[in-house]
Amino acid sequence: MRIRHFNIAVFIPEEACPNQCVFCNQHRIAGADCAPSVEEVIAKVEAHLLTIPEGSEVEIGFFGGNFTGIPIEGQKAYLESVQPYLASGRAAGIRISTRPDYISQDILTLLKQYHVTAIELGAQSLDDEVLKITGRGHSVAQVRDASRLIKENGFNLGLQMMIGLPGDTAEKSIFTAREIIRLGADSTRIYPTLVIKNTELAQLFLDGKYTPLTMEEAVESISEIVPLFVAAGVKILRIGLHPSEGLLDRTSLVAGPFHVSFGEMVFSEIWRKQIENMVFGNGKRNLLTLTVAAGMRTAAIGHKAMNKATLLESFRKVVFEESADLKGFEYHAHTG
Ligand code: SF4
Repeated sequence: MRIRHFNIAVFIPEEACPNQCVFCNQHRIAGADCAPSVEEVIAKVEAHLLTIPEGSEVEIGFFGGNFTGIPIEGQKAYLESVQPYLASGRAAGIRISTRPDYISQDILTLLKQYHVTAIELGAQSLDDEVLKITGRGHSVAQVRDASRLIKENGFNLGLQMMIGLPGDTAEKSIFTAREIIRLGADSTRIYPTLVIKNTELAQLFLDGKYTPLTMEEAVESISEIVPLFVAAGVKILRIGLHPSEGLLDRTSLVAGPFHVSFGEMVFSEIWRKQIENMVFGNGKRNLLTLTVAAGMRTAAIGHKAMNKATLLESFRKVVFEESADLKGFEYHAHTG
């Protein structure tokens, strides 16, 4: 039986971050106004554990801002608060997200003492010009150095990237993805840039100095990136921002490609291209059985079943099956 994996995400907003990236209003994205107390962290973990089936693998994640930028005593207090869950086996590890310029050997030694297992860096782009224009406040070299140090210290490395940033292009995004693979990332998250209220980017947008990607452009761009990560074995933990309240009701969103099913649309697009390249000959035939890798069936059928609808133009009946022998975007097409 497959062990199910759950992340309990605790958001630590911008408090610790001295930067102001043009796209970020961390308070709005996280849907929280201030950092949680240790008691609130424990309450959140307890509440989540009640909803998670016995025997699942659980990780506790401190996400949102710049964890290793919090004063050391604060980091220790948060990490200490969740140690009992590791000791009792109710949680298998701790993930944190932070900035590349807040990684040092001393920090990693501390994180190791508290059994942190995975460190996710907000790399966003591996193009220095894009980093500069977006006010990230760190360089590509710092992403590389931090990644190397994290890997050398035996942590699981996550590198998050964004597409559609000011100064970014589809080519630069592909380059960033290839660099993330080259740096040995174990996981990634891919976010299309959204224009959030009360950010510098919102002002640039209103002044006509920044144009966000359209939904089609964002889906297309990420549909070129995902297969690279899949082929390299880099686990994709998320595509598109988690829909917090302000995004769902659009009170925080000024512009940009936001959709609750964004990840599904990307996978659907990848399969649309695959299907477009399948050659079936002329005339309508009876049956197509399309076997895809485990977990890929819904994506192959497509967003709003659009890929299935395309195939039904050539076949009277289309059946989708999954096989554990196939990986990634591999498939077998059997016609009858
Ligand atoms: S480093 Fe992260 S938290 Fe800080 S401003 Fe940039 S995106 Fe926001």
